[in-house]
Amino acid sequence: MTKQFRCLITAGPTREYFDPVRFISNPSSGKMGYALAEAALAQGWYVDLVTGPVALLPPTGAQTCNVVTGQEMLAAIERLFPQCDMLIMAAAVCDMRPKAVADHKVKKDALSMTLEMEPTPDILQTIARRKQPGQLLVGFAAETEAVEAHARSKLNAKQLDWVAANQVGGEHNAFEADENTVYLLGKGAQRIVLGPGPKTQIARDLIHSLAQCVAST
Ligand code: C5P
Repeated sequence: MTKQFRCLITAGPTREYFDPVRFISNPSSGKMGYALAEAALAQGWYVDLVTGPVALLPPTGAQTCNVVTGQEMLAAIERLFPQCDMLIMAAAVCDMRPKAVADHKVKKDALSMTLEMEPTPDILQTIARRKQPGQLLVGFAAETEAVEAHARSKLNAKQLDWVAANQVGGEHNAFEADENTVYLLGKGAQRIVLGPGPKTQIARDLIHSLAQCVAST
């Protein structure tokens, strides 16, 4: 019997709190990551879904792990990555976090109008260093301009096998929209255009394209 293909998918935003009731984050809805999990299950894959806070129900059949911060997402990925064949990082990880976190709600008149920030760990870059032969890394790139050029730089910088690039901002707000166009770029110069179409269809096409690549290697 052949071993079931294992896919680890991240979805949604992460949050970085600076007191128990205030945080910085981004408008990621989690729709793309959840649609990818659904499509991967339909492909017959085993799915671990690591998700930030979203208002969606996880697909039946996915092993779901809820996280809030980037550090928690990294810890979950470090635990689950060794067993998986493919990691798809669709989460919009918050790039920075407040340096200091108060353990009580800061009173309005004591709030500082400037927050000192520090970078959060780059999960893909950290995990790329632990990649074993046969494991595939797929990242997402949300860009406001020069989408493909910036996405290709990200593919190289983060040592990815594939990057799924889309445009955000202006009329094309990929974050909250139901529709999207995605450019799936491979490290071997492959370029596959998916959409425009509903995120659910794009997710199915994306998983299908990745499954074909897996089958041909
Ligand atoms: O550098 P940028 O945030 O645009 O890269 C996007 C890709 O990197 C996405 O796949 C995202 O999930 C991943 N990422 C990460 N760790 C971070 C920030 C982004 O793995 N701290």
